[in-house]
Amino acid sequence: MTRFVYPGSFDPPTLGHLDLIRRASGMADEVVIGVLQNAAKAPLFGEQERVALLRELVEAEGLKNVRVVAFAGLLVEFARQEKATAILRGIRGAADVEFELQLAQMNRALAPEVETLLLPASPQYSHISSQLTKQAARGGGEIKAFVPKAVRAKVLRRLREQS
Ligand code: ADP
Repeated sequence: MTRFVYPGSFDPPTLGHLDLIRRASGMADEVVIGVLQNAAKAPLFGEQERVALLRELVEAEGLKNVRVVAFAGLLVEFARQEKATAILRGIRGAADVEFELQLAQMNRALAPEVETLLLPASPQYSHISSQLTKQAARGGGEIKAFVPKAVRAKVLRRLREQS
């Protein structure tokens, strides 16, 4: 039984995240998306909102072997709790490689039995990040090429509420 945990902030979930989730779902018996609590100081969406958004996307994609949960604390503890065979992370470019390698080695030192799997982003999504999507939307830019339709609507509504 292969079970990946895919941790992240997902503030908001992007087309890049969704692509990784879809591909992982085809490689593992089960994928558990872990939504990090207190990810940013002032996230656009609360953790339960991010969980709900991801559940909506996973259901719309028909991915039956993907679960979404919130977690706090050490990533390796979350992976152990979920009896994960690997932690899945995405690689968009050189900056991600540096950071993700360090994270993987750190996690290996903390929990040698937990493997990390790094999956390259699909080229059409490799420029997409939650952070830059939020910045673009705040500046009035069109974000439909970065996030699913349902997410776009919620981002725009939240920004309107905040302004
Ligand atoms: P974190 O704050 O932990 O980096 P993110 O939500 O930004 O959380 O990202 C979660 C994971 O998804 C990370 O491994 C990141 O590299 C990966 N990721 C983010 N955007 C993309 C993308 N466009 N394509 C593939 N992987 C991505």
